[in-house]
Amino acid sequence: MHFMSFPLTKKGGLCGGEAKNDFWKTVYQCTQILPHSKPRYVMGVGFPLDLVVCVALGADMFDCVYPCRTARFGTALVRSGELHLKSSQFKFDFAPIDDTCTCSTCLHYTRAYLHTVATKESTAASLLTVHNIYYLLNLMKQMRTHIQNGSFHSFVKEFMHNMFPNGPKTYPTWCIAAFHTVGIDFS
Ligand SMILES: [Zn+2]
Repeated sequence: MHFMSFPLTKKGGLCGGEAKNDFWKTVYQCTQILPHSKPRYVMGVGFPLDLVVCVALGADMFDCVYPCRTARFGTALVRSGELHLKSSQFKFDFAPIDDTCTCSTCLHYTRAYLHTVATKESTAASLLTVHNIYYLLNLMKQMRTHIQNGSFHSFVKEFMHNMFPNGPKTYPTWCIAAFHTVGIDFS
């Protein structure tokens, strides 16, 4: 892990396979002691759930290969988690990846088409990368708006409900612990 104090603060070396409890505790420890007047940048974090947890813990910025790499494997990011478009269940599914998404891929291509080309043709990786980055940018924009409006806790609860519709008992324990640290509880 290394830090840079100017013009922003970054932390890196996380998410190389360490346990999730070590991950969030390290992020929290850093955000508590780093200057609040500078952006806090966490390197190599890109899973949507990890972004929400890290923002709750006080991180501001991220970068990661994940949205592009997972696109190459035929995976699209959605509110409920991931769509694995190679799955035969999408062979005749003529809906977009996400009918609420306004990215150019969702506006012009069906799941059935993406199923046909995913992992076979490079255009699929490009189309899914567009959607995945759009999804993550939108997620970050939503969090910024909710923080500004004072409704971030409600946002977290809705995000977790969408990703884990069977309720808080199915939430990963490391997430519950991380959110609890900053006063977000689900019971
Ligand atoms: Zn989209």
